Amino acid sequence: MQESYLIWGGTLFMALIIIFPFIRAHHKTLKKDEARKKEAVFLGADKTIAQHPIIDEYRCIGCGACVDACPENDVLGIVAGKATIINGLKCVGHGMCAEACPVEGITVGLGDTSKRSDLPFIRENRETNLPRVYIAGELGGLALIKNAIRQGREVALDIAERIKKNPDIPASDNAVDVIIVGAGPSGMSAALTAIENNLTYRLLDQQDPGGTILQYPRKKLVMTKPVTIPFYGTLTKPEYSKEELLDIWYAVMDKSGLKVETGCKLTGLQEEGAYYRVTTNNGSFKSRYVVLALGRRGTPRKLGVPGEDKPKVMYKLIDAETFTDNHILVVGGGDSAVEAAMGLARQKGNRVVLSYRKEKFFRIKRRNQERLEAMIHDKKIMVLYNSHLRRIDDSAVVVEWMGEKKKIRNDYVFIFAGGEPPFELLKQCGIQFGTTD
Ligand SMILES: Cc1cc2nc3c(=O)[nH]c(=O)nc-3n(C[C@H](O)[C@H](O)[C@H](O)COP(=O)(O)OP(=O)(O)OC[C@H]3O[C@@H](n4cnc5c(N)ncnc54)[C@H](O)[C@@H]3O)c2cc1C
Repeated sequence: MQESYLIWGGTLFMALIIIFPFIRAHHKTLKKDEARKKEAVFLGADKTIAQHPIIDEYRCIGCGACVDACPENDVLGIVAGKATIINGLKCVGHGMCAEACPVEGITVGLGDTSKRSDLPFIRENRETNLPRVYIAGELGGLALIKNAIRQGREVALDIAERIKKNPDIPASDNAVDVIIVGAGPSGMSAALTAIENNLTYRLLDQQDPGGTILQYPRKKLVMTKPVTIPFYGTLTKPEYSKEELLDIWYAVMDKSGLKVETGCKLTGLQEEGAYYRVTTNNGSFKSRYVVLALGRRGTPRKLGVPGEDKPKVMYKLIDAETFTDNHILVVGGGDSAVEAAMGLARQKGNRVVLSYRKEKFFRIKRRNQERLEAMIHDKKIMVLYNSHLRRIDDSAVVVEWMGEKKKIRNDYVFIFAGGEPPFELLKQCGIQFGTTD
């Protein structure tokens, strides 16, 4: 009898020794997730911008399979025993969390759209409240490259069909059939489909073609589901690198003769008789139909200082490793500015100055704050608090700091002053937002 107690006791003890570290690690992760959630809410990073996981709290068993399945990392966590969205901003709606959930406790969608003033009203054929003005891609609320390509194609086919069957608006010498604004996956797909259907078109973008894909970090693995690109065929692999995907787009442009007019930022849209006039910072153009494929990420905010139009001024950092032995000024006080400054300061021979208009950083992640302090201490970064960039010259910048104008040697300037989402501009153009007609 006593012997069997000893065996049982020993087994239990061994089991506890083995299991205890796992319980402790799990407990630590839960605590960490709670802290991450608090920080994300404080920074406003918990809000999603497109489709996202909708978690059924009654079904969720808090197993964390969804957390591990997310390819963008960091999006989900477990708080109070349930899956929860932590860094919603990073979610692009892949839906792998839903596939991984063993209790079918996650669906992916836009949630309660009645409270979303950033979702445009769109009819079934993707036409807005303005007749013959369409929306394609992420601007409509649904992210992912495959959705953007499919929607771009659908709107161009709808336009081609309308023009063929019932040319309500006559062709005109000084108006193209369709103007497409935005040369990301949705706008490119719309333009390629327009070419296939012999429509005359203009494809306008404020930047180089490629859309948000251009902003991905170098070598980022892009997940796709099968989707057909006009003039190319079907993307069949589950993963492509950013560079591979861009090469495909450039090859398609070559093959189809697709032309993109870059440096054209949309500033207005007005009806002009039976046509539309699309106004940009680089001219205005007339068309029978319009496709808005602007995405939801907006335009980087400018400071409006002299010299800001120089090619050495940038609004995003994609690849810190390509900058070495340079004098660099980073402007801004958010996580993007601080992360860029630290990334650049780690490269060989760079001298990095970070200029921020306030007396300390208020809204950055604790992890970034700690790393930045260490780099300031090691003299890898110099921070100028309460400073304002006043002028950008070819080999220097002028920064106002402590009541004086300081001239600092400079090769590159990175500005992180936030972005201007396209919603206000579109509202001014007459596009209705909200989900009712
Ligand atoms: C970090 C990150 C990772 C992602 N990873 C994936 C992934 O792995 N797989 C996947 O399927 N999706 C992914 N996505 C989502 C995917 O990139 C987008 O859903 C897709 O690019 C949307 O395409 P779009 O053509 O609608 O818009 P965008 O690609 O955003 O293109 C919009 C274009 O409009 C232009 N524009 C905007 N405003 C104006 C204006 N006023 N005037 C003129 N032009 C303007 C922009 O310059 C841009 O070129 C990711 C997104 C991000 C941010």
